Amino acid sequence: MKAVRIHKHGGPEVLQYEEIPEPSVGNQDVLVQMKAASVNHLDVWVRQGIPGWKVSLPLIPGSDGAGIIVGKGEGVKDLITGDKVLIIPNVSCGNCEQCVNGDDNLCSDYGIVGETCNGCDAELVSLPRRNVIPIPKNLTYEEAAAIPLVFMTAWHMLVAKAQVKPEQFVLVLAGGSGVGSAAIQIAKLHGAKVITTAGSDEKLEKAKALGADFLINHHKETISEKVKQFTENRGADVVLEHVGKATWQESLKSLAKCGKIVTCGATTGADVGINLNHLFYKHQQIIGSTMATRGELFEIMNFVRQKKLKPVIDKEFFLKDVAEAHKYIETGKQFGKVILTI
Ligand code: ZN
Repeated sequence: MKAVRIHKHGGPEVLQYEEIPEPSVGNQDVLVQMKAASVNHLDVWVRQGIPGWKVSLPLIPGSDGAGIIVGKGEGVKDLITGDKVLIIPNVSCGNCEQCVNGDDNLCSDYGIVGETCNGCDAELVSLPRRNVIPIPKNLTYEEAAAIPLVFMTAWHMLVAKAQVKPEQFVLVLAGGSGVGSAAIQIAKLHGAKVITTAGSDEKLEKAKALGADFLINHHKETISEKVKQFTENRGADVVLEHVGKATWQESLKSLAKCGKIVTCGATTGADVGINLNHLFYKHQQIIGSTMATRGELFEIMNFVRQKKLKPVIDKEFFLKDVAEAHKYIETGKQFGKVILTI
C-alpha cells in the first residue's frame, strides 16, 4: 500500500510517499481503507521533532481520518465491511482509573494517532475497534476527517474546562485556525458572545459567517483595547489561548474579573510572563487542556448530525502532495482545515 512516512525529523521534504507492507489486523482491530485525512499543526510538530519528546520512527503521520471498513478481527462483532467510519485519535490504556472514569485524555499512557502510533496518511490503517466511530450520513469523508482533533480540543477547552455560559464574552484567538473555527461555533452553540481575531479582513468575514459577533484584525488593532471596547470595559470571561508567547500578554489584558484563560498550545513559544498581582486580585484562572475524552467526540458528533456544528474546509490536496499541504499550513493562510484526499 502507499503511505506517507517520516524516517527522520525535518522540513516538509522528509515526508516520503512510499510503498510499504499492509498493516496487520489484530483480533479487536478494524482495517480501514482511508478516503480522507486532515493535516493539523500537530503533524508539523511531529515532523519537525520537539526537543525532549521522542517519537518512534519511521512513523505514518496524520491524526484525523475517515474511510471505509475493509477488514476486521474476529473479536469485532458490531461493525461490518463497507461501514463508513471516522478515526478517534485518542490512544489510551483503557484500564487505569482515568480511563475507567471516562477521562482517557488524562491517562498516563495517553497518546494521539499519528504521534504515538502510525496515523492516517495511508491507504490502509489498522486500529482497535474503539478508535473508530460511524460517520453520520450527512457528511462526506473529507468533512468527517476535518472534525476530531480541532473540535475535540476546542470542545474540552470551552465546555469541560471553561464551562462557558450564555451571554458570556469568549475571546477566540486566531479564528481562522482549525481550533479557532471550531471554537467560534462551539461558543455560539452555548449562547456566548464571540470576539475573534485574524490577520486579514477576508478571514474575519469568514469568521463572522461562522457566528463571530465581534472582529479584531490583529495586524491593525490591539486585541485588549478592542476587547475592552466590545465588552464596555468588562473584558472577556473566557479566553481561548492556543497561540502562546505572541498573544499571551494581550490575552491576560483582555481577561475579565473571574475570567478564565484556557490554553492548549503554544505555537509561538511556551515561556510567558505573568503578573500574579493581577491574577489574584481579579480572581482569574489559567487552565491547561489537552484534547478531549472519547465521550466528548460522541457529543460533538450529535451536534454535527443536527448541523449545529460544521467542519470548515479550506483546501484539499492529494495524499502524494502531503509536503505541499504541510507547507501551506505553515503559511497560516488557511481558514479552517486542510484535507488530504486518499
Ligand atoms: Zn489509561
